[in-house]
Amino acid sequence: MNQISNLRQLQIVDQQIATNSGRLKEIVELLANDPALDSIRADLARQQKLFDEHRGALREQESKASSLDYKIKELESRLYSGQMTNPKELDGFLQDHAMHKRMRGDLDDQLLKQMEATDSARKEVERITQRVEEMESARARQLDAITKERGEVEERIRGLTQEQISLRESIIAPTRAIYDRLQKSNPGHALAAIRAGACDACGVEVPRGLIARAKQAEEIVLCPSCGRILSG
Ligand SMILES: [Zn+2]
Repeated sequence: MNQISNLRQLQIVDQQIATNSGRLKEIVELLANDPALDSIRADLARQQKLFDEHRGALREQESKASSLDYKIKELESRLYSGQMTNPKELDGFLQDHAMHKRMRGDLDDQLLKQMEATDSARKEVERITQRVEEMESARARQLDAITKERGEVEERIRGLTQEQISLRESIIAPTRAIYDRLQKSNPGHALAAIRAGACDACGVEVPRGLIARAKQAEEIVLCPSCGRILSG
């Protein structure tokens, strides 16, 4: 193989290494993080907190209701005991009883609303919990597949790196330096073919003398316009 075909092959190998390294980077990122799962777990924590608050409020109202019930019962047993003879005292008790009944009625409305709010918060917790479980099992399957793929990608990179080393050794140092410089500024496009008498990369016409020299492939010929290695 001559220098040009080795360079062409090196460019292919370098590109494959870049592609595989890019994928490896993605894989490492995927293995380390799962933003969608993190976000839904945060949703669940928020919803759980909301549910706890609603449930706390409900319990408080329930305990208020049973205190009122107790108080009402107590008032009723006094009122209906037949022992109340003082009309003024009786009136006071009746007013007190009416007030407590009113409070109890208002509390019933609140209780109903609070029960509904608690129930819908609980349902939302259940819905998100189910979603988290589904996502966690999908994640476990994904981790298996990604871990397997990581092994394959690493293996490919090892093989390609070996090929890269032997290709670089087959190319003389000054040519390698030109290639490396071009590769740095235009990764994957250090070489350009000549098509219809023009450089394939920049489109500028290449003098015939240079085309002939490039076709002989005995030396490195650069495009006079963009400086890429003309690959004949
Ligand atoms: Zn060019």
